[in-house]
Amino acid sequence: MVQEVRIAKRTGFCYGVREAIDKAKEASAAGKATHTLGQVVHNEGVVRELQVLGIQTVDQLDDVDHGAAVIIRAHGVRPDVLERANSRGLEIIDGTCTWVIQEQRELRRLVEDGYTIVLLGTPKHPEVAGLLGFAPDAIVVDEEEEWEAAIPRRKRMALISQSTQPPWKFERLAAFMVSRAHELKIVNTVCPVTIRRQEDTMELAGNVDLMVVVGGRSSANTKELTRLCEIAGTPAVQIEGVRDLTDPTVFAGAVVVGVTGGTSTPIEDLRDVTERILAFAGTPETSSRAHELSIAALDRAATPAGRTTSLPGPTAPTVTISYGAA
Ligand code: SF4
Repeated sequence: MVQEVRIAKRTGFCYGVREAIDKAKEASAAGKATHTLGQVVHNEGVVRELQVLGIQTVDQLDDVDHGAAVIIRAHGVRPDVLERANSRGLEIIDGTCTWVIQEQRELRRLVEDGYTIVLLGTPKHPEVAGLLGFAPDAIVVDEEEEWEAAIPRRKRMALISQSTQPPWKFERLAAFMVSRAHELKIVNTVCPVTIRRQEDTMELAGNVDLMVVVGGRSSANTKELTRLCEIAGTPAVQIEGVRDLTDPTVFAGAVVVGVTGGTSTPIEDLRDVTERILAFAGTPETSSRAHELSIAALDRAATPAGRTTSLPGPTAPTVTISYGAA
């Protein structure tokens, strides 16, 4: 039976997602007709909460009335989307994450400098779609099996990444590309929040019997956390939220359980999952104190040092390697 549940440090919304949500709430509180272009966060509970505040999700700008406010979510958009919103007389509230803005600037520079650009990312992901607006000819690659066929040999090449790609994959691709170019420029835009979250999740996974990973089923960064738990040798269960926890037998044999979450998962969801695990799979003692223990677990995880807002500003490290002919 479960005696203890620990929540990973530095979880909850990443600063980009939190800022975009806050901007939407502020606009609505100021009495503006507020829309988000696409779901501001991949989390149904949060989207419902915003709907209650009168904030609507729209898939296209045509669904927004002239003069209304439209929030650009943390993933950012192509420049022509902003131009179109302007020309339709919409009030644009730009919630593009500062890190993503930095990626967009880097891409623009690489295009101007004439590099053949390889972008590590999930092809249809909204962040990647937005980035391609700044570098339409960039070659988007994802899984390792694709690299050989997709990446040409060129004199001057550059590598850049979608923010939430796993650091190990970026490093591997960089190593792969070394033999593909005479000059290779590496712009490491893997987000520090992603890296730290993965580190904290790995550390926790190494000290518990079972991990519960909370996040959207289609969220790549959530899936990566699950994969990392398994690499750490700890079985992991991935759920969207507390409602998915219906089978206490999953926790049979687990004494200490760890809980972590993706960048779109509110930290309160992790507390609720903690409470549920203790309530239905805990010892008689932990089960009866599930609520109180879950609050204590959250307090331990959400220390000031764990706040994503304490991260330094967005400066993407750049490495340029030049050597033998392509
Ligand atoms: S994961 Fe990083 S880059 Fe992406 S929205 Fe969050 S803070 Fe910004």
